Amino acid sequence: MLEQLDKEYVLHTYPRNYVNFKKGINATLFDDMQKDYIDFTSGIGVVSVGHGNKEVADTICTQVNNITHISNLYAIEPQAKLGEKIAKLSEMDVATFFSNSGAEANEGAIKIARKYGETKFDNKRYKVITLEHSFHGRTITTVKATGQSSMHSPNFAPYPDGFSYDNKIDDIYNSIDNETVAVMIELVQGEGGVQPFKKEDIQELAKFLKKQGILLIIDEVQTGAYRTGEFLASNLYEIQPDIITMAKGLGGGVPIGAVITTHKDIFEPGDHGSTFGGNYLSTSAANKVLDILDNYKNSGKLDETIIYFDKKLTELFENNTNIFTNKVGLGLMKGLRVKDADTLAKIIPTAFEEGVLVLKAGKNTLRLLPPLTISKEEINEGFKRLANALAKIS
Ligand SMILES: *Cc1c(COP(=O)(O)O)cnc(C)c1O
Repeated sequence: MLEQLDKEYVLHTYPRNYVNFKKGINATLFDDMQKDYIDFTSGIGVVSVGHGNKEVADTICTQVNNITHISNLYAIEPQAKLGEKIAKLSEMDVATFFSNSGAEANEGAIKIARKYGETKFDNKRYKVITLEHSFHGRTITTVKATGQSSMHSPNFAPYPDGFSYDNKIDDIYNSIDNETVAVMIELVQGEGGVQPFKKEDIQELAKFLKKQGILLIIDEVQTGAYRTGEFLASNLYEIQPDIITMAKGLGGGVPIGAVITTHKDIFEPGDHGSTFGGNYLSTSAANKVLDILDNYKNSGKLDETIIYFDKKLTELFENNTNIFTNKVGLGLMKGLRVKDADTLAKIIPTAFEEGVLVLKAGKNTLRLLPPLTISKEEINEGFKRLANALAKIS
């Protein structure tokens, strides 16, 4: 049985739900009992173009029937094309390093910042300021970059030096010192509670940092690849950061991360690398995912889906003000603040029983990250099931 196998042979790092999913079609999943579920999680913002996407599957099959991997010692055509596509879609003069995950992308960004600090300032600047309630990954460095003390367990100490945390964007100005080399933030804090920052505040910060020669790193691991309605949340906020990281939605489920920067000459051969990063498999998948999403955006369908999803979410919110206190988020990265954590802890399993998958963020936010290609029928059905779940618990 899956549960026994998993418990015996897989390390216990996640509280698991022992469902056994067998098939997915867009935003609908089927388990081994043929029960169907509407997926409002897209594997935590990963399956951006839906489950079982035929175009992506065909692209991957064709690619792996030829070459899956050859190493970064040789030029890789789909990798170069993906770099070009990212530059074009971001409308920035950038080049990209490809990794395998979000945490690795952030590691790469921090390495660029450290080398920039080492070479551009006489006093070898190295400090990076991040925000409380942020999330930047699970490696020893990115866990330390994450501004949540619960993540800095003494079990894994010592951590690298040079990270400090501010509560608000406004506080960053006062904590910059002459060793600060970069500020790293999300534009919508995902794990922290689906909390978007104000556009004017971000634009002002970006302008200030540019004047000081301090790098702005935007962690778009969750917000990137059209999640907020534009290719990058940085496009939506109309800023030009020094470094942007992407991962989750970029490969449609194939592991890939990206460190995107306007500082094309800081890394030299030998400074950074990855065995798997940017191989034929992941970059051919990501090229196809971005082509699909670019067309979807240009046809107006992404905006339509965002508006329709928000309409149904607003209805659910207004019909359940005894449970929810606020509606938050941008694009298809949405949340409802639940009056308390206990109630949220009841909503998630009850929604699962009713056949809709939802996520938690922060202490008390119900988080919704559907595939960007979710259909109107799936949205209707998902919200119907979520309303049923709420009726059950209240
Ligand atoms: C998920 C996430 C990460 C970590 O990505 P992994 O692929 O799990 O390493 C980093 N930053 C943000 C904003 C994320 O949402």
